Amino acid sequence: MTIEQVQQLIRPNILALKPYSTARDEYKGNIGIYLDANENPFENGYNRYPSTTLKAQVRSTIAQKKDVNPARLFLGNGSDEAIDLLFRIFCRPGVDNVISIAPTYGMYSVCAAINDIEYREVMLGQEFSLPVDELLGAADAQSKLLFVCSPNNPTANAFPYEQLITLVKQFPGIVVVDEAYIDFSSEPSMVELIDEYPNLIVLQTLSKAYGLAGLRMGIAFAHECIISVFEQVKYPYNIGADTLALAQRLLDVDITSQVQTIIAERERVAAALRELPYVIKVYPSDANFLLVKTERSRELYEYLIARELIVRDRTHTPGCESTLRITIGMPEENDRLIAELRARD
Ligand SMILES: *Cc1c(COP(=O)(O)O)cnc(C)c1O
Repeated sequence: MTIEQVQQLIRPNILALKPYSTARDEYKGNIGIYLDANENPFENGYNRYPSTTLKAQVRSTIAQKKDVNPARLFLGNGSDEAIDLLFRIFCRPGVDNVISIAPTYGMYSVCAAINDIEYREVMLGQEFSLPVDELLGAADAQSKLLFVCSPNNPTANAFPYEQLITLVKQFPGIVVVDEAYIDFSSEPSMVELIDEYPNLIVLQTLSKAYGLAGLRMGIAFAHECIISVFEQVKYPYNIGADTLALAQRLLDVDITSQVQTIIAERERVAAALRELPYVIKVYPSDANFLLVKTERSRELYEYLIARELIVRDRTHTPGCESTLRITIGMPEENDRLIAELRARD
C-alpha cells in the first residue's frame, strides 16, 4: 500500500483537523519567564504543564532502544490510548468496520463498541493458528483496521512472521500488530518493517517486560504520515510529568536478565503443570503467561482463590473453554502455585 492510499483511509474530518496548539507547542525554549499558559507561578514541583523537552528526550531514548527514527513513534497513556486513537482516526462511526482474530485482547472490541464501529471476529484455527485467508475474506471497502495480537493474549502463541507479512501486504486497510509480549517471544518484532509498509502499525508497551504497568506508557510505531495524525488527535498533555521523568530514568534499567528468568520460569512451570493428572493441555507460550486447559477449570480457579493464588479464568471465552490463564511470577511464587496444584489431586 502506498502512503497516498493510507491517507485515504483517514476519516475526512480528521484530515481536515486544525489541531489545538498548546502554549508549550508554540514556545519550545527552556529558559525565560513563563507567562503564557495560565499556570500558578508558585513552585511546588508540579505547577507547570509537562515539559515538551522531556517528552522529546523520552521519545528519543525509546527510539534508540528500538532502533527507529523518533518521528516514527507515538507515546500514549498506555497502549490502550493508541488503540482508541486508531478508531478515532480511521473509523467513521456507524459506517466502517474493523476485523480481529478471536479469542484475543478485550480492548479492541470494547473500543469498537465505544466508537460505534462494527467488530468482525474471525476465530483462530487448529492449535490457535492464524486464519490468514478468512481474515482477508472478511474485509470489504469499509474495513479500516485489522487487529492481530502476537504473541496473542490469552492464547499465548506468536504467529509466524511470514504470515503477518502476508496480511500486511494483502489487507486493504491498516494492520495493527499488538506486540505487548514481544520481549518474551521467539518470533522477531515487526517494528523494522514500518518504513517498508505504511499500512503497518506496531503497538508495544512498557507494562509487561519493562515492568512499568503502573506508569501507563504505551508506544505506537508507524510511518511518519500516521504518527503525525496521532499527534494531532491525542489530548494536548497526554503523558504526565512524573510518568515522563520516571520513564526516562527507568528505561535505563537492563531488563534482559529479568526477561530470561521469566522465560525459564515459564518453561519450568509449564513442565510441572503437564505432570498434573487433571491438566489436559498446557499451550506453548511466547509470552509471560501460560494458558492451561484443565478438567473442571472453574473449580480449580476457586480452589486457588481460597489459597490466595489469583489467576485469570478464561473458561467462558469462546475458543478457550475450560482454561485458566496463569501469569509467571517470582520463582518462589511459582513454587507455591505448583505445590498447591500438586496437593489437589
Ligand atoms: C497488557 C496488554 C497491553 C498493555 O496495555 P497498556 O495499556 O499499555 O498497559 C496491550 N495489549 C495487550 C494484548 C496486552 O495484553
